[in-house]
Amino acid sequence: MAKIEPRGRKVKILATIGPATRDPDMLRRIFRAGADAFRLNMSHGDHEVHAASFKAIRELEKEFRRPVAILCDLQGPKLRVGEFEDGRAVIPHGRHFTLDRDPTPGDANRVCLPHPELFGLLTKGQRLLINDGKIRLRVREATSDVIHCTAEVGGVISDRKGVNVPDAEVPIPALTEKDRRDLAFAMEQGADWIGLSFVQRPEDIAEARELMGPRGSLCAKIEKPQAVKRLSEIIALSDAVMVARGDLGVELNPEEVPPLQKQIVNAARQVGKPVIVATQMLESMIESPAPTRAEVSDVANAVYDGADAVMLSAETAAGEWPEEAVLMMDAIARQVERDEAYKMRVRLVETPADPTTSDALAHACMTIADTMPITAITTFTSSGASARRVVRERPSVPVLVLTPSMDAARRVALLWGVHAVVTRDIGSFEEMIGKGKRMALRHGFGEAGSKLIVLAGVPFGTPGATNLLHVVTLTGDELQDHDDS
Ligand code: PGA
Ligand code: MN
Repeated sequence: MAKIEPRGRKVKILATIGPATRDPDMLRRIFRAGADAFRLNMSHGDHEVHAASFKAIRELEKEFRRPVAILCDLQGPKLRVGEFEDGRAVIPHGRHFTLDRDPTPGDANRVCLPHPELFGLLTKGQRLLINDGKIRLRVREATSDVIHCTAEVGGVISDRKGVNVPDAEVPIPALTEKDRRDLAFAMEQGADWIGLSFVQRPEDIAEARELMGPRGSLCAKIEKPQAVKRLSEIIALSDAVMVARGDLGVELNPEEVPPLQKQIVNAARQVGKPVIVATQMLESMIESPAPTRAEVSDVANAVYDGADAVMLSAETAAGEWPEEAVLMMDAIARQVERDEAYKMRVRLVETPADPTTSDALAHACMTIADTMPITAITTFTSSGASARRVVRERPSVPVLVLTPSMDAARRVALLWGVHAVVTRDIGSFEEMIGKGKRMALRHGFGEAGSKLIVLAGVPFGTPGATNLLHVVTLTGDELQDHDDS
């Protein structure tokens, strides 16, 4: 059996799979290098290609007996221009440029905008940003058929480049026809997380949830100013959020992103929802085996902020150095987490406990681990909910999650500080203590003499009933005569 040591770090690494990493050998390499969860980006690749990735990831999971989260990221209502006669055109600075409904290929003066919703919506003075904001058009005059613009910043425009309209709330549904097909595919394949792009309103989350049914968890990508305005409502309805800095930095000014990153991370952490910091974290590693100092610092700061996960996009999906990028992210995270000041910094976010037994015990876990030498917190859970409450406190020791549910184990793979193991269910208090000890020993979370916190709820199997905290000492002999899995 292939073996892999516990990661020895709290923050998780979410790596996007693409042409550079689809090959099962490369996938295994980035997994070994430190990827805890994988993102499949539905904006690229067809279902056949993604189905092969699902299969390869699940095989890896079996090979290493380590639950892995798969996040299927839906493209969402991404707006795009039509096509050009020569595949591209150059719009000079200051020139007029027109967007219309005529599907004839475009040129340096005009192109089709195949989104009827935008005609009659955009008004004079509003902006259209093309190709990640590289081109900035300002509306001079708009009718129901044409949008006349001035190119405040011109540049090269090519087929189907993305368009952002930060100044208007676009009345399009959160899920396009393609998203609905992709979502059905993702659910059928057993995706653990669904990424919802360009969320604008809380209703968008409700709409996606209805289509998803009871399985799978939903991650709202915060990349629109409209979503920032209604952040707490959106977080309340989601299972996780992503600071999607790529589009966020186009829709807003780039300098607005760092304070927002901190606000979004804090808001999610306060309510105990996982939060992912994404995009351009090690961007230069797409082409170079070493990152810039600024990128290293960016990853480190997201770790200090206490994000649950940091994400790699093109670095692992299409870059030349995918394994090096994961190794680098892993090294940065470990270094930060070794810093004496890390424990204090990561708790700068206030996380007031709800007046529940579960939260009171989660808080107690944190203070006990600060008071005496504890090597891990072990928690039994059927849904993963109690693990979420425990890691919300950012305790100083790892949280070993024991669950009979493979789904729960995969879902929590994205959570800060969690190491999940799927085991048979337990029936009694004695069994629970025995198993907690054995699993800690077997998975490297303690040795003879180590003390553990065991957290559970009795009666067993009642979700949300955490009511028991036990501090136990390992003898080191626990594994004798036992062969449970
Ligand atoms: P994307 O989302 O990579 O799907 O665009 C992330 C972002 O916008 O940052
Ligand atoms: Mn995006």
